[in-house]
Amino acid sequence: MEPFWKTKTLAEMTRAEWESLCDGCGRCCLHKLRDDDTGEVSWTNVSCRLLDGHSCRCADYANRRRRVPDCVRLTPEAVAEIDWLPPSCAYRRLDEGQDLPNWHPLVTGDPESVHRAGISVRGRAIDERQAGPLEHHITPWPGTLPRKR
Ligand code: SF4
Ligand code: SF4
Repeated sequence: MEPFWKTKTLAEMTRAEWESLCDGCGRCCLHKLRDDDTGEVSWTNVSCRLLDGHSCRCADYANRRRRVPDCVRLTPEAVAEIDWLPPSCAYRRLDEGQDLPNWHPLVTGDPESVHRAGISVRGRAIDERQAGPLEHHITPWPGTLPRKR
C-alpha cells in the first residue's frame, strides 16, 4: 500500500499525518531577514529561543504561539504562500509535487536520520539570546539543499 503522503494532498491529511511530515530539521526556526526594497529573504544561523539545539525540536510546541507570537503556524494554505520554507522541508516538497527524500524519518523509520544526513541545524545554530545582531549571522546554508557534513 502506498504511504499517505503519496496518496493524499496536504489538505486531506489527518492531524497526526500532518505533524509526522515534519522531519525535525529545525531550519524553519532560524531567523530570516527580508530586504525591504527587494523582498529578498536572507537566512541566518540564529535560532528561536525555544528551539532545542540538540533535538532541533521546539521546546514548548503546545504553547509556542503564546510564548513566541511571531511563530508561524503551518497549514496547507500557508505552505503554498510562504516563500521561505527551506527546499528540504517536507511540506514544501509535497506542495511542489516532489516526494519525501530518502533521509526523511518517515522513510527511514529513524528520527536520527535527519541529523545523520546533515539536514538538521544540530550543532550549527546559535541561540538568539547569545547571537547579537542578526545581520552578523547571515548564511546561505539553511536555504539551500543540504550537503553531507
Ligand atoms: S523546515 Fe519543515 S521539515 Fe524542517 S522543521 Fe520546519 S516544518 Fe519541519
Ligand atoms: S516557537 Fe518553537 S516552533 Fe516556533 S519558531 Fe520557535 S522553536 Fe520554532
